[in-house]
Parts: sequence; structure tokens; C-alpha cells
Amino acid sequence: MTQDLTQRLAGRVAVVTGGVSGIGLASARRLAAEGATVVLADICDEATGAPVAQSLGGMFVRTDVTDPEQVDRLFALTHETYGSVDIAFNNAGISPPEDGSILETGLEAWRRVQEVNLTSVYLCCKAVIPYMVEQGRGSIINTASFVAVMGAATSQISYSASKGGVLSMSRELGVEFARKGVRINALCPGPVNTPLLTELFASDPERAQRRLVHVPMGRFAEPHEMAAAVAFLASDDASFITASEFLVDGGISSAYVTPLAD
Ligand code: NAD
Repeated sequence: MTQDLTQRLAGRVAVVTGGVSGIGLASARRLAAEGATVVLADICDEATGAPVAQSLGGMFVRTDVTDPEQVDRLFALTHETYGSVDIAFNNAGISPPEDGSILETGLEAWRRVQEVNLTSVYLCCKAVIPYMVEQGRGSIINTASFVAVMGAATSQISYSASKGGVLSMSRELGVEFARKGVRINALCPGPVNTPLLTELFASDPERAQRRLVHVPMGRFAEPHEMAAAVAFLASDDASFITASEFLVDGGISSAYVTPLAD
């Protein structure tokens, strides 16, 4: 990060799930750089997560976001340790190869993706909202995806359905808690250069190209570009933004025909 950042998140405490990789890690770094105390929650082991959290001056809490007790403990521990929970970036998610066309995707793969991508957001919101209502202040950002608003012929049926669920749930929660000082938005990233995406395309560059052609900007996003949006939504600069479908997608969801390469 070369630019000078304001300290608009000074004194705020932020929990980031899936915080040790990709969009979560970039966002945790950005939130910390803007003054927040960050708590990283991830399913990875302590030896991987703890040094990352330490480097940001925060805490690692090993958490499987599909487990209600672990999720409750995550937010309780954060509140106990730092005295508040002001920002929750509910971001952990998976995109496994077993999830494809509905014709090939089995019930087990369907359920696993729903659990990690959608039920986890339900659990995290359910656990954190009472703290935020009590404080009269909070910003929740749930990671959905551009596939919540577009269909793909290269289907990942459970993934897309889970992200549609995250978007609707965020909208409804945003409306329900708007008068309690709690803002709840869905971040809808376009394709981002992270391990989740690169793993998917590593074996097949043609697969990546088939997607790239639809992005008006002609490239995938970088994680720090999501992090900038997360920090904005987390901050008071977004004080009138709630229940939104916050697209950071390089224009993909608005495109019919895209520009030719120069
Ligand atoms: P990533 O694979 O780099 O990071 C995901 C993190 O979530 C990992 O650290 C992983 O250990 C953690 N995680 C997985 N299962 C977990 C569980 N049960 N409990 C706790 N942590 C768990 O992925 P990313 O690309 O940074 O994706 C982050 C979010 O952004 C996901 O919800 C993903 O669906 C969404 N998203 C990604 C893209 C993209 O192109 N990369 C586009 C749109 C939306």
C-alpha cells in the first residue's frame, strides 16, 4: 500500500472471516492500515493464521464458520478482548470443483457449499447483530458475488444459489436493522485474482479467457480493489449506504458487448 490512508477506522474493531487468504486478507490489511483492530477468523491452522494476525497487530481465532458454537465464540471473544465489535466482514467461502452443472452436482456437494457460503453468513449475522444493536453502531459486509445478479452457462449451481441467498439476506437484514444504527451490505465482487480463482483456472487457460472476454475492463480485479470497497463500506463515509447490492465488478454485470482489445 503506497498511498497515505486516513485513520477513519481508528478505534473500530473488525472481524474478518476467511481472513487469511485472498479478499479477506487484503481487506484485513486495509482495515488495519486505516486504524481498525482486526480479528482474523479462518479454518486454517493456528500456525498459519496467528503470525498473519500478529503482523497486523490483531488476533487470530481459528473458526469453522459453519459451526454455530465456534461462530458464537468468535464474536464473544472479540467483544471480551476489545470491548466492541464494530465491523463484521463475513467473507469466507468456497468454490469446489464438485459443484458444477445441476445435472452433475450431487446433494453432498450442494449442501457443503450452502453451509460454507450461506449458512455461515446467517450464523455470523445472528451472532454479531445483538452486539451491534446494543452499541447502536455497526457495519456488516457480507461477500456475495456478481453471480448473484447474473447467470452463467458454465454453471456452479450451488455457489450461484448461495450467493443469491447472501444478497437477499443482506438486503433484508439491512432493512430490518436500519433504525438501530446497524448497516448491512452485500459486496458483489466480479472475478478477482485470488487462490480461489487461480486454482479454478490454473489447469485451463481457455477457461479463464472465456470469462475475461466479458469483463469490460479486460482484466480480473486485484484483492486490494475489493479491500478498498470493504474499508469504505465499513467506515462512516458510507453512513447512508445499507441493504445495498454493492457491485465492484469492473462493469461485467452491466455489459452486453465489451470493447475490442486495442
Ligand atoms: P480464498 O480461497 O483466497 O479465501 C477464502 C478463505 O476462506 C480461505 O482462507 C479459507 O481457508 C477460508 N475458509 C474456507 N472455508 C472456511 C470455513 N468453513 N470456515 C472458515 N474459513 C473458511 O477465496 P477469495 O477469492 O478471497 O474469496 C473470498 C470470498 O469472495 C468468498 O466468499 C468468495 O466466494 C467470494 N468471491 C470471490 C471471487 C473471486 O473471483 N475470487 C468473486 C466473487 C466472490
